[in-house]
Amino acid sequence: MLSRESVISILSEKVELFKGFSEEKIGIIIDGSKLVTVEENEAVIEEEEKGRFLGIILSGGVNIIRVENDGSRKIIGSLREYEIFGEIALMTNEKTVANVVGSTHSEILLIPQSMFTKALMTEPSAIAYLSKLMMKRVSEISKASQETGSYKDGHITLNSEKRKQILVINCGSSSLKYAYYDTYRPDEPFKGIVERIGENQTVHKFSYNSQEEKHIISASDHKEAFLDVIRILTSEKFRIIRNPDEIDIVGHRVVHGGEKYNAPTVITEEVEKEIEKANLYAPLHNPVNLTGIRESRQLFRKAVHIAVFDTAFHQTMPPYAFLYALPYEYYSQKKIRRYGFHGTSHAYVSLKAAEFLKRRYSSLSIIACHLGNGCSVCAIDHGRSVDTSMGFTPAEGLIMGTRCGDIDPGVLIHIMRNENMDYNQLDKVINKFSGLRGISGISNDMREIENAANQSDYRALIAIKSFAYRIRKYIGSYIAAMGGVDLIIFTGGIGQGSALVRNLSLQGLEFMGIEIDEDLNRSANGFKQICDITSSNSRVKVLVVPTDEEFMIARESLEALRNYEISQEISRIKPIPIPVEVSAHHIHLSRGDVDKLFGEGYKLTIDKELSQPGQYACKEKVNLIGPKGRIDNVRILGPERDKTQVEIAMTEEFRLGIQAPIRASGDIEGTPGLTIEGPNGKITIEKGVILALRHIHMSFEDALRFGIKDKDLVQVMVEGERGITFDEVLVRVDKNFRLAMHIDTDEANASGIKTGDTGFIKSIMRKV
Ligand code: ADP
Repeated sequence: MLSRESVISILSEKVELFKGFSEEKIGIIIDGSKLVTVEENEAVIEEEEKGRFLGIILSGGVNIIRVENDGSRKIIGSLREYEIFGEIALMTNEKTVANVVGSTHSEILLIPQSMFTKALMTEPSAIAYLSKLMMKRVSEISKASQETGSYKDGHITLNSEKRKQILVINCGSSSLKYAYYDTYRPDEPFKGIVERIGENQTVHKFSYNSQEEKHIISASDHKEAFLDVIRILTSEKFRIIRNPDEIDIVGHRVVHGGEKYNAPTVITEEVEKEIEKANLYAPLHNPVNLTGIRESRQLFRKAVHIAVFDTAFHQTMPPYAFLYALPYEYYSQKKIRRYGFHGTSHAYVSLKAAEFLKRRYSSLSIIACHLGNGCSVCAIDHGRSVDTSMGFTPAEGLIMGTRCGDIDPGVLIHIMRNENMDYNQLDKVINKFSGLRGISGISNDMREIENAANQSDYRALIAIKSFAYRIRKYIGSYIAAMGGVDLIIFTGGIGQGSALVRNLSLQGLEFMGIEIDEDLNRSANGFKQICDITSSNSRVKVLVVPTDEEFMIARESLEALRNYEISQEISRIKPIPIPVEVSAHHIHLSRGDVDKLFGEGYKLTIDKELSQPGQYACKEKVNLIGPKGRIDNVRILGPERDKTQVEIAMTEEFRLGIQAPIRASGDIEGTPGLTIEGPNGKITIEKGVILALRHIHMSFEDALRFGIKDKDLVQVMVEGERGITFDEVLVRVDKNFRLAMHIDTDEANASGIKTGDTGFIKSIMRKV
C-alpha cells in the first residue's frame, strides 16, 4: 500500500486535477477518502453505487465495462495511472452506467463525492479541468447509451459514502412506530412499534432478521416509549447501537407541512414553529408528531433531525386541482385548499414500480392506489403528483376503513342541524364511524368484511362494491386528468392483500387498455414482492407493490441531509449571480414541419442569437390556432429539433383553449396538440404543447461551482422589484448551456420580474 506521503506527492505532481491545490488541502481530501487495491478483473465500482466516488488511479489501470440489457459485458474504455473516473456521476444524478474493474493489480483512491464537492468549490482551475474532461466523456457516454437505449434511472437504495445510522420515527397519538437503518446494511432494518402508550398494557413489538418479539411494558407517555426503544436497541441481545449518540439522522414522519414545505427539511427551532402552525390543519396528527420530534431531539442529541412531510409530494399539484370552489379568500387567507397525504408511500411505490419495469420514472403517467386503513389515489404525471384524492384533511376521496371520503357537504349541514350535533361529534361520525365500518356494520378490516361477504352478508357485499366502485371512478377520472395512463399500482394492506378489490376496481376497463390476468392477480403475494398482474393484452401495466414508508423516510432524510450540507456550502461561497430571462411563448419546429409550413427545403433565417449558444430567434413567425382562439406571430426558435414543441404560458393556454401540462422541455409525451399556420399552409400536431417548467440552464463548470447536478430542483431568490423566492426550479446541465434562469411571462408578470434581474440559488430541494 502506498504511504500517505506518496499519495500526496502523486496527487500534487502527477494528477492534473489537483494542480494548484495546497498540500494541506490534498491531505484533508486523502484523510476523507479510501485507498483500495484491486486485482485484474476485480470491480472497483458496482453499478448500484450511484455517484458515490471519484476514483484516482495511483498505480496500475482499469477497464470501464458496460453491462448490456441482456447481461453481457463489454469493455468500453481503459484508463491508466493518474487518470480519473466517476466524474460523470458527480454531475448527472444517474447511476454510474458502467462498472470499473482492474485491468491489472492497481491502487486507487476513492474520494467521496461530498468531500470532493466541498474541496472543489473553491478551486476554479480544477473546476475548469474537470468540466473539460466531462464534456469529452459525456459525448462518448451519451453515444454509447443511445446505442443500447439502456435504462439509467437511479436505484431506490439507501447508500451513503460514509456509514450513516438512521432512525425513522412515526409518532401516533398512542403509538410510536420506528425503524433503524444502517446505510452499510440497508436490507437489515430493525423495525418496531410501541402501542397503547398511556394505557394499562403497553405493548412493544419489534422484528429483526425475520425474528419477532413482543413485550408488555409500562410507558405512560411517549418519552417512556422512546426510552424503551433505546433500551432494546442498545440491549446486550441486539446491540444495534451502543448508545443514542451513535444515531446520525432521525427522520420524522410529519403529517402536515402546509404550503411551506414541499421537501424533507432539516428541523431547526424555526421549522418546529412552522410545524406547530400546521397543527391547525391536522389537529389529530401534527401535535403528536411534534411531541415525537421534541422528545427525540432530547434523546438523540448528536443526530440531525429531519421532517418528512406526508403532504410534500403533492405540492406540485396545480391550483385548478388543489383549489376548492369556495370564496377565494378561504384559500388566500386561511390556506384552505387540498393538500393530499400518503405522499411518501405514493412516491416510493411509483419509483419502485418504474425501477421494476426499467422505465424512466419521469416519462410515465402513473395512478397509484394506496389502500390501507386510510386510502388515497394519486395521479403522477411524468414524475409530478398532479392530483390526489385526499384533500384538506385525509377524510376526502375514497371510502376508507372508518372515513367516509367524498360526500355532499350539504349532508353534513343536514346532520348537524337535524341530529343536533356539534362539530366534534360530526368529526367522529365522518372519521371514525363511516367508511367500510359504517356501511358494513361489521368492521373496518377488509378481511373480515370479505369473510362476511362470502357468507352472503348484504351489507358486507355492498361495502366492498362501494369501496371498489369509488376507486374505479377515481382511476377513470385520473386517466382523464392525465390524458392516459401507463401504469396502475396497488399498495397498502388492502391493495397488497385483496385480489378481489383489485379485480373489482379494474374489471371491465379493457376498452381503456387496462386488463389484468386473473390467475396472476389471485396468486400475487403483494406483501412480499412486486407482482406484475398485467394480462398480455393490456396496454397499461398493473403492478402490486409493497409499500415501505419507513424506508422511504430514511432515504428522503439521507438525501435531505446531503442537500442541506451542499446548500450550506453554497451559502458559504460568494453568491454566484444567475441572469434571469423571461421567455415569451415560442415554438421549436421539426424539419418536416418547416417544409410543410414554409415550403419544401425552406431555410429559416436567423434574426438574433439567444443567450444559449447555438440557439437563435428566427425572423419567421407562425400563428397558433387552438379550439377556442388563436395567437398570431409566434416566434420560431432555431435550430430545428427532432419534434415540434410549443411553449406557452397559462394565460395563453386560456386564449387558445388548450390545457397543457407543466413539463421539462423535450418531454412532450401525452401533451395536447394544436394547429399551426404558416405562409405555405396549416399543419395540426397531435402533441407538443407544454407549459415550460421554470428552469436554469448551466454548463458542467457552473454545476461544479454550485455543487449541484442535472435534474436537481433548487430554490432561487430573484432580486427584482420585490425580491421573490421560487421553489422547484429545474436544473438542466449540458455542455452547450450558458448560465441563465428562464421563467415564463405569467410568472414574470405576477412577480414583477423582468429580463436582466438576478437570481441566487438558496438551497437544493429534491431530485426529479
Ligand atoms: P395503514 O394504512 O394503517 O398503514 P395498512 O396499509 O397496513 O394500514 O392496511 C391495513 C388494512 O389492510 C387492514 O385494516 C385490512 O383491512 C387490510 N388488509 C390487510 N391484509 C389484507 C388482506 N390479505 N386482504 C384484504 N385486506 C387486507
